[in-house]
Amino acid sequence: MDERLARMRELDSRYVMQTYKRLPVAFVRGEGTMLWDSSGREYLDLLGGLGVTVLGHSHPAVTQAICDQASRLIHTTNLYYVEPQAELAKLLVENCFDGRCFFANSGAEANEGALKLARKYHHLKGKPRSKVVAALRSFHGRTLTTMSATGQPEKWAPFQPVVPGFAHVPLNDVEALDSAVDSDTAAVILEPILGEGGVYPADGAFLKAARSACDRVGAVLIVDEVQSGMGRSGEFFAFESSGIRPDIVTMAKGLANGVPAAAFIAAGEFGEVLAPGDHGTTFGGGFLACAAGVATVTTILQQGLLGNASRIGFLLMERLKDLMSLDIVTEIRGRGLMLAIELDRPVARDVVLSCLEHGVIVNDVGPSTVRMLPPLILNEEEALHGATVLSDVLAGLKD
Ligand code: PLP
Repeated sequence: MDERLARMRELDSRYVMQTYKRLPVAFVRGEGTMLWDSSGREYLDLLGGLGVTVLGHSHPAVTQAICDQASRLIHTTNLYYVEPQAELAKLLVENCFDGRCFFANSGAEANEGALKLARKYHHLKGKPRSKVVAALRSFHGRTLTTMSATGQPEKWAPFQPVVPGFAHVPLNDVEALDSAVDSDTAAVILEPILGEGGVYPADGAFLKAARSACDRVGAVLIVDEVQSGMGRSGEFFAFESSGIRPDIVTMAKGLANGVPAAAFIAAGEFGEVLAPGDHGTTFGGGFLACAAGVATVTTILQQGLLGNASRIGFLLMERLKDLMSLDIVTEIRGRGLMLAIELDRPVARDVVLSCLEHGVIVNDVGPSTVRMLPPLILNEEEALHGATVLSDVLAGLKD
């Protein structure tokens, strides 16, 4: 282990809360799809900072935007107009989802705000509602409310009692969803592709059923695109292929290519629900994040990255499907550049470590699930190299 890494490990173990099971590596530089660690070793990044660096590392347009903005002004607060915030809102609303934006700092915070908006909407209608339907295995964040929305009971266990009112139905079970939504339901919140739950795409029929159920009872449909959005699925938002229109879309991860930024956009009348004093955040919609966001979204839209995510995602998926010939691989799932390999035994962490040794970064999203969320700029050669390394690593696993 090099000295720099040894020092980081020592400081971390002594001074930082041990909430992350870190891998034995520290990256110190990145460019495009490549990362370099503290010993100078090079890696192909098929994880993109957990789906964040959609344009790859140190993208020149984002770096330029951050440097230009930082040299002029970093913070004033939302007491005043913030030019890059207004520009990012225009860009998102005119190109991605029609409505009004609220800017936050994390995916959890965006979902929290969307859920608050749903409650206020019903309050304004004169019949307060607080019940929310979500999917089992879903992930919506780590605040008390978004943790309670999350359909993974093991994540709430030590923090009981959860925020009341959340009901969870199996993903893609239209009947269960339909019967869970009733006249007390304030909102339905769904990921179009479960991310932290193991990369399980929702069927178009399930999303359509959610839309109809919300219409039937007047509930708010919130689509959580924190992980699947910003072009990752090959569409700007993964719900698009289902043909539905949500009432609120939440986003974060890829919005500013690594500068903390999040947003929710509420369509039509939902965009008028939150009034001064109802909701706010000191840092949300700040100059740096929004300048980086404008550069990121503009680049995604102008450089054909949705098409690239679809094309390279398809190619990678085809290559990964060849791994089904190995006994250990039971399923390949996903869409665009959001992919998972399901194994027949809980060795995903061994696969991650072995890939790391071979200079390729992937992630164990579950004990037997290996996940990839590479930058949308991934090229054919890199995708094939990644698939070859995964194939070698999986073939080399001992029984
Ligand atoms: N929603 C989804 C779908 C996510 O994947 C995540 C994070 O992984 C979140 C919400 C929470 O986002 P954050 O970690 O930025 O709070």
